Amino acid sequence: MIFPWTRPSLEQLLEMRAALPHALLIHGPEGVGKAQLAHHFAGALLCESPRSDGDACGSCAACGWFAQSNHPDFRLLAPEADEEGAEERTEARGKAKARASRDIRIQQVRALGDFLAVGAHRAGRKVVMIAPADALNVPAANALLKTLEEPPGDTVFLLVSGRADRLAPTIRSRCVALGLPMPAPAEALAWLAGREGVDPVQAQAALRAAGGAPLHAAALVEPPQAAAHRAVLQALAELPENPVIRAADTVATHPARMWMPLLQVWVTDLGRVLAGADPHRFPDRAERLARLAAGTTLTRVGGFANWLQRQQGLADHPLNPRLLCEDTLLRYQALFDSGGKARPR
Ligand SMILES: [Zn+2]
Repeated sequence: MIFPWTRPSLEQLLEMRAALPHALLIHGPEGVGKAQLAHHFAGALLCESPRSDGDACGSCAACGWFAQSNHPDFRLLAPEADEEGAEERTEARGKAKARASRDIRIQQVRALGDFLAVGAHRAGRKVVMIAPADALNVPAANALLKTLEEPPGDTVFLLVSGRADRLAPTIRSRCVALGLPMPAPAEALAWLAGREGVDPVQAQAALRAAGGAPLHAAALVEPPQAAAHRAVLQALAELPENPVIRAADTVATHPARMWMPLLQVWVTDLGRVLAGADPHRFPDRAERLARLAAGTTLTRVGGFANWLQRQQGLADHPLNPRLLCEDTLLRYQALFDSGGKARPR
């Protein structure tokens, strides 16, 4: 899928068709449509009668298979947990069993070997998309390296990453990089507010809470996520007066990778208020933030923000999600004088 703000990057990619590198790295912030862009470009590369601008025709047999996720010369490597139905399958296996992996594992890269060993089913090339490439664990990255060093035949690798700094330099150096920037706020807002059933005021608030990333904002304005987001934010905002245990009852029902970034932006806004600025992401909660600011210091909040930043790596696979949540919220509560216990509202 191509969004208005990814069109210039698509055009850039289509212009590269004439002298296509073996591996491309599409990188940029999360929530701007990198994977959608890579997927669209993969379709264009597999199309058997591309348009004059290099884009897919949308009507040939190859385009049809690709649209149905059925093209024999296309492979997508993604963490098992990102695959459709992963949640259900994991649930069916029972809670005692391991959760679906958030890594791309060596078995997946090895399976690619079989795919690459045979010639293309159709006359053209093969396309391998790896998203997110930073999910490749070390053995998987090492196994991939061999393939990237000697790419078999007419194969194109499209790597997608929101954390390109986490990629092994040996992988990065074998890719031609294309950065997908954060869209201009006005452009993102126009797209978001133009979506069905989205209220423009809500769109603005969501975009702010999502740090300007339109796809994250879109997820927030969709009813179930929007409700979850509100509930978590409310529980966070009621600390330190409310018991941590009670806040954790709400917060820990959501994955850490949802509530941790939310707490991060909340604390960033608290820091802004302490520094005398206006809240950036939560202007509608300015009064609450000002009251919280009166009970803490910039040093404490800055220290906590740094600590929280270091925990983000754990958010993908916490050993004990409930414990991580309680520990984090206790540390947050301790930022405030008297730990909130005797503080009047
Ligand atoms: Zn086509």
